[in-house]
Amino acid sequence: MKKVYLLLTGVLFLAACGDKTPDANNAGTTANETSNDFGKAETHEAKTVVDENGFIWQTEQFADIKILRYDIPGWDKLTVDQRKLVYFLTQAGLAGRDMMYDQNYRHNLAIRKSLEAIYTSFDGDKDTRGWQAFETYLKRIWFSNGIHHHYASTKLKPEFSRQYMDTLMITTGVSIDEELLTVIFDPSVDGKKVEQDKTKGLVENSAVNFYAPGITTEEAIAYFDSIEVEGDRAPVSYGLNSRLIRNEAGEITEEVYRVGGKYGPALEQVVFWLRQAVEVAENDKQAAALRNLIEYYETGDLRKWDIYNINWVQATEGDIDYINGFVEVYNDPLGHTGSYETIVQIKDFNASERMKTLMENAQYFEQESPIMDAHKKEEVVGITYNVVNVVGEAGDASPSTPIGVNLPNANWIRVKHGSKSVSLGNIVNAYDKAGGSGILEEFSHDQEEVDRAMAHSELAGKLHTAMHEVIGHASGQLEEGVKTPKQTLKEHASTIEEGRADLVALYYLLDPKMVDLGLMESLEVGKAEYDGYIRNGMLTQLRRLEPGADIEEAHMRNRAWVSNWVYEKGEADSVIVKVDREGKTFYDIRDYDKLRMLFGELLREVQRIKSQGDYDAADQLVLGYGVKVNPEVHQEVLDRTEKLGIAPYGGFINPVLQPVKDENGSIIDVEVTYPSDFIEQMLYYSENYSFL
Ligand code: ZN
Repeated sequence: MKKVYLLLTGVLFLAACGDKTPDANNAGTTANETSNDFGKAETHEAKTVVDENGFIWQTEQFADIKILRYDIPGWDKLTVDQRKLVYFLTQAGLAGRDMMYDQNYRHNLAIRKSLEAIYTSFDGDKDTRGWQAFETYLKRIWFSNGIHHHYASTKLKPEFSRQYMDTLMITTGVSIDEELLTVIFDPSVDGKKVEQDKTKGLVENSAVNFYAPGITTEEAIAYFDSIEVEGDRAPVSYGLNSRLIRNEAGEITEEVYRVGGKYGPALEQVVFWLRQAVEVAENDKQAAALRNLIEYYETGDLRKWDIYNINWVQATEGDIDYINGFVEVYNDPLGHTGSYETIVQIKDFNASERMKTLMENAQYFEQESPIMDAHKKEEVVGITYNVVNVVGEAGDASPSTPIGVNLPNANWIRVKHGSKSVSLGNIVNAYDKAGGSGILEEFSHDQEEVDRAMAHSELAGKLHTAMHEVIGHASGQLEEGVKTPKQTLKEHASTIEEGRADLVALYYLLDPKMVDLGLMESLEVGKAEYDGYIRNGMLTQLRRLEPGADIEEAHMRNRAWVSNWVYEKGEADSVIVKVDREGKTFYDIRDYDKLRMLFGELLREVQRIKSQGDYDAADQLVLGYGVKVNPEVHQEVLDRTEKLGIAPYGGFINPVLQPVKDENGSIIDVEVTYPSDFIEQMLYYSENYSFL
């Protein structure tokens, strides 16, 4: 394995190429004219992002996609057995990779394999527009686990001609069926992965492979109705692990994903690796859950999936956790069948340490808070929150990944046995690292602000989140007889609550106590958070809004009303100064201590609003400062952001885990390496994990 990997490194590094076109699908059709395909390609920028330590956070950008990498904080704290467990779990995930391609569309694997064969054997001119477009098309397929856009669900459009494809087939000797060529080049064939418009036929018009061609929406719904048990209080997740087909008698039936059934060869491999994981499980509960998962894959029995989930949700002791299964049902227009995914994660040891310190000092933060005494809790208990670091992902969770996960999905299990909710800390951090500097430099008032952010914003952000969650949401109490915020503050309840938690964090981020507790080295960390918070609340978050739109989302609203309020109240004292330079707007904080007092003042007021259930005050605060956007500033932000050419979608290269073996072939350690680019990883995966 290792050999193949190293060989690929040498060959493919040269072939790496980024396409800076923000959206190749809308980039015009000139590339489809035959003459252009054979013309010389323009030079492309790879758009690599490397930090001062040499870690590559972003390897490239193409079409509407940027490819990032994440580091694994805490890897060095794991024992050899824990590393082996992580290794086996990631191998189990990768062994199932091809299932996701096939689930997404029945022709995906055949198309991918043909294009990969052309890609690896073509030795003609690679400096042409046609070749670059071919490479981009293949990279987009890898990114989406198929030929439909991972987010928009529409079919990807090749930006090279059918004639160029013919030339590639002739020069490489790789032939592709006419049917597949039609699928690739005719936009009217299977144009959408998931149809959500009922009038067009949910099942009929969806290309996703959960229903055999010819099955109607009506038939599928009738089938699921027929297998549901009336009044079952612990229902299995009907249809979660199967494809609907029509049998020889013409009846609708399920082709179940299991060893010996649909996707058998891939699931056998998944089970092979899970068995090894059982051997090095951290504790009995974890091992029990893994055994349940194996039984489920071997039988396809959904009762066993439920038993697995109950044991999985109760296995909370270890440092390592994972998701493995046919889980989310968003790809099914009828919402039954789960897409295969894996995430393997380890505890964020630093975040746990910070959380512990904050919890131990929760009473200090409550006592010293600027809120009214009547609104302080006698005894405040911090709220636990979980941050983990991802080590590997596959299937539906890769290359495009979630940043937080809350499972299981079965409602009765959640109610009866609970659920696990995690934030994927190193993924969030990687997004910041890769996307940060361009936006940061464009919107920072001066170099000092940029330097401070570079040095401290990562820790600042983590401390803000920890304070917000552990102390912020836990602090304060309602006055006697006041109903819940949902009843009193109504539609403003969540933005008021989020803003309140932010204000607790902001107020304490400039408290010397944070330095005394060893949470930060100096208050520069707090200042970096103040800079970033104001910059975001006043300017950069507006880039996520369409022109003319109001701010709707609760967190975005609270960042706006907090920022706008302190800016206005501090205007007379020049606490924050608005600077107009060459038509660009900047906000410069001139007095950090006064700004802290303003955050405290607003916290006191917002806590009063919550504690007394003062709807009118909440309404004035939110509508007055948190909803409307100045259209000129908004347009300016959009223009400035667009010039930076940052791709809207991001996804990840996974680290490669390499077992180190002794002379008997036993694994004595696992090493982490990184491929240099996306192509290298995707070809490595296809070479080593093609089981369907
Ligand atoms: Zn919150």
